[in-house]
Formats: sequence, structure tokens, C-alpha cells
Amino acid sequence: MTARPRKRKKNKPKGLRIILYSVIIALVLVTILLVLPRDKEEKLAINPSATATPIPYIDVPEETIEPRQTPANDKSKPLDDPLPQKEKNRLAIVFDDTGNSLADLKLLLDLPYPMTFAVLPGLANSRSASIKAHKAGKEVILHQPMESLGGENMGPGGIDTTMAVWKMQAVLTDNLDSIEYERGINNHMGSRATADVIVMDAVMEVLESRHLFFLDSRTTSETLAKDSARRFQVPFLQRSVFWDNETNKAYLKEQWEKAVELSKNQGQAILIGHAHNAAKIAEVLKENYQKASRYLDLVYLSDLLGDNR
Ligand SMILES: [Zn+2]
Repeated sequence: MTARPRKRKKNKPKGLRIILYSVIIALVLVTILLVLPRDKEEKLAINPSATATPIPYIDVPEETIEPRQTPANDKSKPLDDPLPQKEKNRLAIVFDDTGNSLADLKLLLDLPYPMTFAVLPGLANSRSASIKAHKAGKEVILHQPMESLGGENMGPGGIDTTMAVWKMQAVLTDNLDSIEYERGINNHMGSRATADVIVMDAVMEVLESRHLFFLDSRTTSETLAKDSARRFQVPFLQRSVFWDNETNKAYLKEQWEKAVELSKNQGQAILIGHAHNAAKIAEVLKENYQKASRYLDLVYLSDLLGDNR
């Protein structure tokens, strides 16, 4: 009696259990088969995106975070171009009154620095000096004689304030045509002429048409050259320090240091010397440039125009 119902009880659920188990196992197997590959796909799909997205952010150098463009741009532009230029200060040396002695000129042309030579017009060596300077890899400008307050002799090719505007412009044009490779002009003397708006406007009109720049030697604090240059959109620069005509070496070194100091404080400076003082100036440069070159570059005058247009 007891065995029967036990058997019955055992038999009935056994059959059901087997069916249930097999159904469950089948379901589990089916779900495993369906779900597992999805998980793998998802895992595969997540992984590349997880490694792909951070790359641009990691690659961008910290200093260049603001304009996040393509990583390629970030790498090539900000790292290469502007930094080296901004790191060093710039000093342009100009030699006035070039065109007299070619021997003096040679002493300066032999110096391995970028320098600018302001050539006086109408001298025996004016044209050859401009050509020699250019061939030596230096920059050339015209050193335009202009009337001074004291009325000193300007030499050939001078502009005085009593001339008609057409005459001033004709004189300047002839002077520009008489030398080669000029990139701009500066004034020889000119304490009266640069303070005269008619003269300055006449000069700037010619420079504008020939795409030349003006360096104001600043022989007077009354100069109107800057305003006039702005009106005619002529690129403009002005002298910071003069080496003057002194041949005293201690003085020349003092002026050099003043110019170096100015370029350190302002980022750039212009030092004007005279070609006939070549021997002493060459010595001062040879003895002092090496030390200064750690934090400044000697450049052509026209290299400074970017900040002064
Ligand atoms: Zn001069």
C-alpha cells in the first residue's frame, strides 16, 4: 500500500520534473546562446570607443587646450610657429651714412649678422654700397637727407621745407632710383623737415606708391612722421637708441647695453650707428653679441614691421 502511492507519487513528479528540467535547460541554453554573443558584441563595441575617444584629449598638449580643433592641427601649428619668435627679443642695427668709404663698409659687411644699411644718395659709392650690402645678405634702405633746424649742409639729394611738393617728391624719387634693393627710407638730419606736415605727407605719398617703409631717426621730438605715415598707411618704425658719432669704446658699449636692455623690456629695439665708425662698432659687437645672443636675435629692420604697421 505504501509502496504504490510512493511509486505513484514518485513516478508522476519524476516525469513532470524531467520535462520541466529539460524545458528549463533548453530555455537556459537558448537564452545563453542568444544573450552571450550580444554581450560579446557589446563588449567589443564599447572597447574601441573607450580607447578611441580619449585619444584627441590626451594628444592635445596642455598649453593648446583652448581651440580644440583636429589633433593634426593642434600638433603642427601651435608648437612650431609662434613660440620661438616670442621667446627671444629682437634688435635691429642700422648703419647710417653708408656710401662714403667702401673699406669701412667691408668691415661691417664681414660681420655675420642680419643688419640694415642706410645709404646716402648722390655719393661716389652710393650705388655700389647698396649692391655690396645686398650681396652680403644685408638689408638696404635710402638715407634721405632732410633739412635740419640748424640749416647744416645736407649733401646731395636733400629735401628742404621751402621746396614745392612736386619738387620734394621728384628729389625723393630720383634718390630711390639711384640706389638698388632699398626696402624703405630713414631721415639723415631732418629736425626741421620731419616736424613739417607738408614735407612728411609729400614723402609718405611716394613711399606708399612704392611700398616702402619709413624709419624715423627721431632727430626731433616734434616729429610728425608717425601721424603722416599712418594717414598714408606706410609701414612705420622709429629709432630707440643712437650710437652717435662717438668713437669712445666704453661709450659705444654703454649704448649697446642700453639697446639690449630696451629690447628685453619692450621685445624689440632699433639701434642706429654710423658707417664711418665701423672699426670700433665691429669690435663692440664681436665682444658683446655672443653674451646677448642668449636672449636676443639681431634682425633686419623690416623684420620688426609686423608689430608696427
Ligand atoms: Zn645720417
